[in-house]
Amino acid sequence: MLKRLLFFIALQLAGAALGFSQGGPWGAVGGTFLAAWLWFGWDASNAARALAWLRRGGPSDSPHLHGTWGETVDRTCRLQRQHAQALQASEARLQTFLSAIQASPNGVLLLDSVGRIEWCNLQAAQQLGLDAQRDHLQTIGNLVRDPAFSAYLTQGDFTQDVLLSRPTSAGAPALQLAIRLYPYGDGSRLMLSRDVTQLQLAETMRRDFVANVSHEIRTPLTVLAGFIETLQTLKLSEEERAHYLDLMAQQAARMQALVQDLLTLSRLEGSPAPSRERWVAVGPLLARCEQDARALSQRVLPAGSTPHEWHFPDEAMRNAAGEIAGDEAELYSALSNLVSNAVRYTPAGGAIEMQWQVQADGSACLCVRDNGPGIAAEHLPRLTERFYRVDRGRSREHGGTGLGLAIAKHALQRHEAQLGITSALGHGSEFCVHFPAARLRPGAGSALSGGPGRKR
Ligand code: ADP
Repeated sequence: MLKRLLFFIALQLAGAALGFSQGGPWGAVGGTFLAAWLWFGWDASNAARALAWLRRGGPSDSPHLHGTWGETVDRTCRLQRQHAQALQASEARLQTFLSAIQASPNGVLLLDSVGRIEWCNLQAAQQLGLDAQRDHLQTIGNLVRDPAFSAYLTQGDFTQDVLLSRPTSAGAPALQLAIRLYPYGDGSRLMLSRDVTQLQLAETMRRDFVANVSHEIRTPLTVLAGFIETLQTLKLSEEERAHYLDLMAQQAARMQALVQDLLTLSRLEGSPAPSRERWVAVGPLLARCEQDARALSQRVLPAGSTPHEWHFPDEAMRNAAGEIAGDEAELYSALSNLVSNAVRYTPAGGAIEMQWQVQADGSACLCVRDNGPGIAAEHLPRLTERFYRVDRGRSREHGGTGLGLAIAKHALQRHEAQLGITSALGHGSEFCVHFPAARLRPGAGSALSGGPGRKR
């Protein structure tokens, strides 16, 4: 400002001196007056250029001015550039923030104070069937027309989640959503939606499982309690006592089998996946299954009835069968369940076959076949569900727990093997396990040892 004043005074003095030299004292007054107008004219022109530039906006094409106006323009330029950089940085931060919310597995919606959608992420749009652009500033209550949600909005108590069931494509289970609103700012609300379909399914399964286990245990317990009361209150002959004790032992065995199967299932669920480094010889596994099958057959067939007909791999085949990578106890548990079912459900005189076949691609199939009663097609997809039985009475009669195939499937899945079931009523059943080549290695006598396509 001082420079500006000095420049103005210097101009006045120069005007005065020039005027005085030309016209004496009156010339000095005129020169001063003229110098003042010159200065105001120059200053007004600079101010007009600076103002025009400011009106145009951006820091580019700034006018080249001197003095105070020049400094003003330079400083304004610098401020504008700093402002643009700050804006860019905050825009980048906002984009990062929005991308993070987009990556969230939960739906996120921002609602204004009257419940209109200000922003929503892709998850929310998918879960609630919204379109982020089309539904911008639409009222959420008009778009999500579930009665439970409407009640939740009107009640205004947002301390709990509200559960919504949204239909999905045909066949798939309905999408279960847990929604909650969180008020913030000046009446705005943050709405979060979580997909709890799997949680709900797991909870239903848990409830069903507990109900099934309780039911399975209650039945033999009731029978046992009845027999105990009979033994305590009635005078029975030695023969009758022996008969009742026999029946009690049967019920106890049933409970033992159930507890054993439950423990096996829980071990399968709780233990780490079977190793790919430990190798289990298939031959001895098949031999053990055969031994068990023959022993079980003797126990379950009525005395004097025609024995089962056996078709198991002979010793040479067993020796050539190679090895499976995994856990011996789990593999045995899976295969013995298949074999024991074949024995238990095939009537006297029926044929039971077990076959191990290595395929050209190095994978292998282990099949257990019988020519028993077979299973109707509608039951096949559900056979491996826990406690699913085709005929509850017959399963119990055969000492079944309803968990055998569930255990087999679970144990086999842990070995990357697939269980396939083929059966038709009256035409027997076939349970085939397909082991991937990656879990197999050939035995010393295997025909396919080292053959093409054989992986380790
Ligand atoms: P369970 O202990 O009742 O045998 P599983 O899970 O082993 O339970 O089998 C489920 C159901 O599948 C059985 O109840 C039975 O109805 C049917 N099933 C299994 N294997 C055979 C088979 N080889 N022949 C006929 N039905 C079978």
